[in-house]
Amino acid sequence: MNRRDFFATTALGGAASVLTPSLNFAYPNAVPAARMKLTFKPYTLELRHPFGVAVNTRTTTPVVLTTIEYGKFKGYGEASMPPYLGESQESVTKFLSKVDLSKYENPLELETILSDIDAIDVNNTAAKASVDIALHDLAGKIMGQPLYNMWGFNKAKTPNTVFTIGIDTPEVVRQKVQEVDPQFKLLKIKLGRDNDREIIEAVRSVSDKPLVTDANQGWKNKEKALETIHFLKEKGAVLIEQPMPKEMVDENAWITERSPIPVMADEAIKRLPDLVKMRGAYHGVNLKLMKTAGLREAHKMIALARAFGMKVMIGCMTETSCGITAAAHLTPMVDWADLDGALLIKNDAFKGITFVDGKITLPSAPGIGAVPR
Ligand code: MG
Repeated sequence: MNRRDFFATTALGGAASVLTPSLNFAYPNAVPAARMKLTFKPYTLELRHPFGVAVNTRTTTPVVLTTIEYGKFKGYGEASMPPYLGESQESVTKFLSKVDLSKYENPLELETILSDIDAIDVNNTAAKASVDIALHDLAGKIMGQPLYNMWGFNKAKTPNTVFTIGIDTPEVVRQKVQEVDPQFKLLKIKLGRDNDREIIEAVRSVSDKPLVTDANQGWKNKEKALETIHFLKEKGAVLIEQPMPKEMVDENAWITERSPIPVMADEAIKRLPDLVKMRGAYHGVNLKLMKTAGLREAHKMIALARAFGMKVMIGCMTETSCGITAAAHLTPMVDWADLDGALLIKNDAFKGITFVDGKITLPSAPGIGAVPR
């Protein structure tokens, strides 16, 4: 018998017949002959306060909640669709109705399954993220481990989250800052309309916390933008996100070359290839699961950003504690986290991460560790 035949008939051949279709051999929690089933339902998040950024103000955010069942296990996921990003409950449910998970024997083959889902259609990153998150949750539950253990991260190394103050009148900004200041170590201040300096002065009249600032593409003149950034630095800003429109690559790069604080891409970088295209135009990137199509690509983007010498922040949309907790499992690897999205809503459908003195505290249950309320 030659070497190849030997392996085919003994070790590998034997192992293959044990491993598929039953996963019992490798993972005691696996269910023989079970198949995954995806279900989903639209849900509307109600915001505690109207939320203003450079381009609009809103009071609700549409989401779609997903569940993947596999035997006795249930993995939970979520798609969040702030209207300006182009997805809706209709587009997400339409996309998800094309996803057939029943054809996969092994739910742990995340790379294969998620590549197939990505190939169903272009864009639809929130819809794709909702499957990615639920699948990671399911995989963790089958393996009996929280995501941070599956990835080899130290849960003690989570950063503090920032708490975001939306654009409003200086008086309302002052009130909001006073309300949250004792609970958080960093505040994120949305800028990019015509009252940036007034807002910053209002914040500074009631708080001396370091500030993460975000212009959300609101500035249109690079010299004026740089001047404002110098003002922000004097006022204790530690970074500025997306100063100018994402299409103005050279102008943003011009600011990056001269800025006294890190310039972070948000709208300009959604997925992995964008990181390559925008290399050199920003000091860092704000990754959000709803942009990256989920955890798997966000994890890869952290590695690539580090290889490029870039700073990394993990952000979020307004989401339930399902999506937020999923993203939080990546935070031991990043410089900053902006994961206050579930604190901004009245009707969180999940319990997940908590904040102890503003520090992200991960649940230790298997998978994401987010539990329906
Ligand atoms: Mg941003």
